[in-house]
Amino acid sequence: MLSQVGLAKIRVPAVEGWFSIDESEPYLLGSKCTKCGTIYFPQEGTFCKNPRCRSETFEQVRLSNRGKIWSYTDAQYQPPPPYVAVDPFEPFAIVAVELIQEKLIVLGQVVRGVTVDDLRVGMEVELTIDTLYEDEDKVYLVWKFRPVNGPETLRR
Ligand SMILES: [Zn+2]
Repeated sequence: MLSQVGLAKIRVPAVEGWFSIDESEPYLLGSKCTKCGTIYFPQEGTFCKNPRCRSETFEQVRLSNRGKIWSYTDAQYQPPPPYVAVDPFEPFAIVAVELIQEKLIVLGQVVRGVTVDDLRVGMEVELTIDTLYEDEDKVYLVWKFRPVNGPETLRR
C-alpha cells in the first residue's frame, strides 16, 4: 500500500461551483442574468426568477468579498448541507451578510474563535476560505466570514 505520509492533502471545495478556493483571493461565484442584470447566489442556470424577464442566459460573476452583517445566530444543532456534518459537532456562529455591491444576502459560517458575542448587525465582514472538515486524504474547504476589524488573532 502506498503511504500518504509527507504528502499534503488535496484541498477541494466542500460544494462544487459555489466559490473559488484560491485562498489568497477568495470569492463566491454567482450568476448574472444577461438581460436584466439580476445576480444570483448560488448560481442560477435555468431561467431568471425576475417575473418581468424570463431570460435563460446567465454569465458567471465574482461576487464582492465584503459585506455587512444583516443578521446572525448561533448554530447549536447540526445544520443541513452545504454545512457538512462535522463529528463531534462544534457550535459556531452563522451570519447573514449583505454583500457590499450586490446587496445580496449570503449565509456563511463565522471563523472559529468568533462567537455571537463578538458580532453585531452592521459589522463589516470579509470572506475567507477555511477548512470545513478533513478525511484521510482530502481537506474540504468552505467559505466563512470574519470581522474586518476583528482582533489580530483572527486575521491570520
Ligand atoms: Zn433576468
